[in-house]
Amino acid sequence: RNDMLEQWDRENFFHPSTHLAQFARGEAPERVVKGGEGCFIEDRDGNRFLDAFAGLYCVNVGYGRSEIAEAIAEQARELAYYHAYVGHGTEASITLSKMVLDRAPDHMSKVYFGLGGSDANETNVKLIWYYNNILGRPEKKKIISRWRGYHGSGLVTGSLTGLHLFHNKFDLPLDRILHTEPAYFYRRPDPEMDAAAYVAHCVAELEAMIEREGADTIAAFIGEPVMGTGGIVPPPEGYWAAIQAVLEEHDILLIADEVVTGFGRLGSMFGSDHYGLKPDLITIAKGLTSAYAPLSGSIVSEKMWAVLEQGTDENGPIGHGWTYSAHPIGAAAGVANLKLVDDLGLVKNAGEVGGYFTAAMADALAGHAHVGEVRGEGMLCAVELVEDKSARRFYDPVGKVAGAVVAEMGKQGVIARAMPQGDIIGFAPPLCLTREEADRVVAATAQAVKVALG
Ligand code: PLP
Repeated sequence: RNDMLEQWDRENFFHPSTHLAQFARGEAPERVVKGGEGCFIEDRDGNRFLDAFAGLYCVNVGYGRSEIAEAIAEQARELAYYHAYVGHGTEASITLSKMVLDRAPDHMSKVYFGLGGSDANETNVKLIWYYNNILGRPEKKKIISRWRGYHGSGLVTGSLTGLHLFHNKFDLPLDRILHTEPAYFYRRPDPEMDAAAYVAHCVAELEAMIEREGADTIAAFIGEPVMGTGGIVPPPEGYWAAIQAVLEEHDILLIADEVVTGFGRLGSMFGSDHYGLKPDLITIAKGLTSAYAPLSGSIVSEKMWAVLEQGTDENGPIGHGWTYSAHPIGAAAGVANLKLVDDLGLVKNAGEVGGYFTAAMADALAGHAHVGEVRGEGMLCAVELVEDKSARRFYDPVGKVAGAVVAEMGKQGVIARAMPQGDIIGFAPPLCLTREEADRVVAATAQAVKVALG
């Protein structure tokens, strides 16, 4: 055992999303994670936790799957790397492209592979700008995203992200990126509004923005079928059909960011199938490999491809490529992972056990004075805590109560996530979660809410 690890960590490792003030005070949490199996992870002291967030909504098939580990090892031995530029492929990357398109909605045509969700959304924005330049519409470049949406941490993608934490002190958002109303029914401006009235409100906000900016300046709208990091918020009935109609009317492309929802999390292969979306681009990552190796993708529609393929005759190849695009090890992990998703029937399980989980959570917390809402779709669930239920009033300071509940759950061996900009406990378990494991997460949540809030 290396007793220096904790010290080396503090001295050397700038972790993503470090709470810098806590770190400076020496209060930052430390956990050296060592192993995992199914829905459980284990730290190096042998403590086991039921991971009800699947890492970061990504270990969809669960931990410790030897089928994927072996596929990675075999690929590494045979050919750890070759680039994918100008037509070079590997068995794994070509096979995976076919598997992705076989699963994607029928009108999709090609997949461009990257490494993570952020770079895939960066690719999407560039492809959209390229597309409009080919079409001779250089002014049509703005992208509309939603407040509370999460689309990554880069310069463009951090701008698309509609959470202040990702803008503040970074001088974001960049020009050309706009934010409109999220489909957040619980936080509707007037509690008297029903779902139809709220959808009409979201549509009116979008239309007003298009009117204000000019449709000829707006290239695309990006949204997660179910909003994830912004609070795990399924859309109200009819939302996507209504938004899509506005986009079509103004010739605005749709990016469905399915980094969380792709490959089964909602109980459908894609969120686009689930809600009847017809996107021009679909962002995939996380569930593509269940995070056994980094890999992402931008799935391009036939409509966009028909334009893009005319684009480079005179100017040479498209000037967009990563060294690690379609990395063979990620691709091998993806092939083995998608097979496993099919073989284990995980899309169906996500719908069935996910539905059971959210219903059980709602039952266990029903009537609690500070539980404003329990919501979910498939294997995504959220509990929103509020100081005053009738006024839907946020706690002051925001986030502390959710932090306390999640910390208490940790003591009971269950991992959930306190979502940013609210007091929201988020759940996104592996898609292989069983009903017994769901019961355990629900019991730990109810107990932790009781300890933290009475
Ligand atoms: N898009 C969505 C919907 C996400 O949830 C995430 C990450 O959580 C991203 C994009 C960014 O992906 P990555 O962190 O792999 O860059």
